Amino acid sequence: MKTCPICFRNVDEGVSFHEYLFEEDIICGKCRHQFVENKKIYHFENLEIHAFYLYDDFLESLLFQYKEAKDIALKDVFLWKKKEEMKDIFRHHECVIMPSFIKKVEERTFHHLDCMLSCCEVSISHCLKKTKNFKQSSQRGKQRQSIENVIEIEEKPPSEFYLFDDVVTTGNTLKAAAQLLNKDKLTKAYVFSVHPHFVELCEKERL
Ligand SMILES: [Zn+2]
Repeated sequence: MKTCPICFRNVDEGVSFHEYLFEEDIICGKCRHQFVENKKIYHFENLEIHAFYLYDDFLESLLFQYKEAKDIALKDVFLWKKKEEMKDIFRHHECVIMPSFIKKVEERTFHHLDCMLSCCEVSISHCLKKTKNFKQSSQRGKQRQSIENVIEIEEKPPSEFYLFDDVVTTGNTLKAAAQLLNKDKLTKAYVFSVHPHFVELCEKERL
């Protein structure tokens, strides 16, 4: 019996007949049905952002369990259903991941984005570096803008690339990365999930 790494039930639990026949999965149907797909594309500054899922309480606790409780057994659950799509998207582009502060990675013992992408067969670029432990959710107002001061180019960036991150909340990290790597050109970014705050921000900008 295969066990769901999220809830520890049998992976066949809650799986529809169609899913059972045609869709191989590593998590159970009950957990799978809690992933809410996102089809919208967001335009923000010089970025075109594609997000696979909507960030909600379920994904918040799943990411917390993975990143803060250091539960590396969850690494494949995030992009499992998107791995073929990711392979296609990044076929001719390197995947520039948003950097983590090195001490944070050491403390966690793994890079959460590296591991999250390991099921996708994409070529990962670590050309960006974070020089300070800077958590945007704990920053307010103008301080939030200063994320661009803590991201640097560490090694030569690939000529063809798209950006990747797990959650887009303010868009400032992706924006800073795009400005560093691509100046004023349009940059495409792919994210695992989009926070409702960002959806609201983009809707307001369009008004
Ligand atoms: Zn489950």
